[in-house]
Amino acid sequence: MNAKIWLSSPHMGGTEQNYVKDAFDTNWVAPLGPNVNGFENDLSLFLGEESHVAALSSGTAGLHLGLVLLGVKAGDEVICQSMTFSASANPIAYMGAIPVFVDSEAETWNMSPELLEEAIKDRIANGKKPKAIIPVHLYGMPAKMPEIMAISRRYGIPVLEDAAEALGSSIDGRKCGTFGDIGVLSFNGNKIITTSGGGALVSSDADVVKEARFLSTQARDEAPHYQHSKIGYNYRISNLCAGVGRGQMEVLAKRVEQRRAVYQQYVSRYGGAKGIHFVAEPAGYFSNRWLSTILIDPKEAGFTREDVRLALDKENIESRPLWKPMHLQPVFMEHPFYGNGVAESLFANGLCLPSGSNLVQADMDRIFAVLSQFFK
Ligand SMILES: *Cc1c(COP(=O)(O)O)cnc(C)c1O
Repeated sequence: MNAKIWLSSPHMGGTEQNYVKDAFDTNWVAPLGPNVNGFENDLSLFLGEESHVAALSSGTAGLHLGLVLLGVKAGDEVICQSMTFSASANPIAYMGAIPVFVDSEAETWNMSPELLEEAIKDRIANGKKPKAIIPVHLYGMPAKMPEIMAISRRYGIPVLEDAAEALGSSIDGRKCGTFGDIGVLSFNGNKIITTSGGGALVSSDADVVKEARFLSTQARDEAPHYQHSKIGYNYRISNLCAGVGRGQMEVLAKRVEQRRAVYQQYVSRYGGAKGIHFVAEPAGYFSNRWLSTILIDPKEAGFTREDVRLALDKENIESRPLWKPMHLQPVFMEHPFYGNGVAESLFANGLCLPSGSNLVQADMDRIFAVLSQFFK
């Protein structure tokens, strides 16, 4: 059997172990230390001057803390993009709040600004103004943030920007993660860079990030004994994982280039294939192409997404249907949903193809050998 080709696997740059070794040599094997500060600095520099960053144990932790910092309470409603991974929505449930799901537009596959506004108006008419909005940059393609932020400001509802999949993406040069009142990144093993597990909370408001650091380290008041006037969390990143992150930051720009090159290979081979559709960047939009994704129109193509997925699987090549929308998930099904059918059709016809920055040409050739049996 040929070696497994993964959808997206960790890709070390080479210097990560030096930072981890430093941590051992100095015994900073703790959720604080020079690598944590260094990693946060690297991220702020990358995201832009005004960005303050708290490095955390996961992106999910970042989203949870984000909701806490935005003042969401039990029983509140929070608007969330339906077409996403469950970690965007689960923290709403952690708060005892109620997710209200909004469908996507067809251009970027992310939260539809029109439906967002419709949902806000309808929730207000129902007597409850939503407390936060969670848009997502799915597969690295930026959501329509200028439009979404304008709506957020018009109604006075803050945005918690889920940029877990979009480190390195931007709109008109402004980096994803810096549009919302609070942004969240993930460094899970399958993301564009990884700390084996980790995340970050981003804000232009230094006080918000200071409070995130405080809450993420058990909310200890200043006192010689343990004293708490707020509920804390154990959400800080470890100095070892942050060391991996520092090494990864050295190669982030290269990883973005490599992911985009993988996507470009798919487009140049199959851009004209019957029934195969790619999602292009709108003007000014820049995607890190974390995952290369396609839509297969079974009527035009004569085969389905599942036909292709199973054929790849037989050759030990991992692919995956696009994320199943939250409003179709058994655990979220009874919550309000404002839809137009876009997310459902993406889920029915979409496929994520192997996208790792560490794919070599021999891997690509194995993938093409299968795809070319279908794509004409
Ligand atoms: C990965 C991911 C998360 C969660 O990040 P973790 O670091 O794995 O907790 C949240 N939202 C989206 C869209 C993701 O892809």
